[in-house]
Amino acid sequence: MIMDKKYFRSTKKVLDEDLIFPHSGGLLVPDFDQQRNLAILEVLRRIPEKDYQELVKIDEKDLFQWFIPHYEEFALCYPFPITHPEEPFKNLTFKDFTRVARAEVLYLSPLLEEQELEIVIAVIAHELAHIVLGHQTIFVEDYETQEKEAWELINKWGFKKELRKYKIYRKKEEKERQEFIRKHELKNIKKEE
Ligand SMILES: [Zn+2]
Repeated sequence: MIMDKKYFRSTKKVLDEDLIFPHSGGLLVPDFDQQRNLAILEVLRRIPEKDYQELVKIDEKDLFQWFIPHYEEFALCYPFPITHPEEPFKNLTFKDFTRVARAEVLYLSPLLEEQELEIVIAVIAHELAHIVLGHQTIFVEDYETQEKEAWELINKWGFKKELRKYKIYRKKEEKERQEFIRKHELKNIKKEE
């Protein structure tokens, strides 16, 4: 089978051989009705080998876990195995997990189901870039620099088209926000008069 040149690995490889793809909750085939899973697959097929291997390593050390609640889920109590203390699970299935104090949990909002696929791809690639770059994602001193680095890396990975779409989307959203604020303020001014 000839692969499109933008892909570094096949769907089969991402789904079978590596551990980075999110677990499908007991399903043999991941739930590709959910756009987020499709976008993750696309991103994982396109990240160049060196950085992909870095992600595999991080994943193997249990330094990272996905959190992708189904869109029908209103609320959820969810145990992250990587955060469990070692002792209580010694003889149970969780025993194979390594417990790491500062593991990253990558949350993907169900609202992404309503976005265009390219935007979802840009968002997921961006978050994985933070992980590859080893960024400190909370209490960040220089947030803007980290953001710039993450966007630059996904650009280098080849997600140029998705990045462009995302930027247009953000610009539009910001314009709408400003408009809302302006209208809201006008309304308040009228009330005060
Ligand atoms: Zn970011």
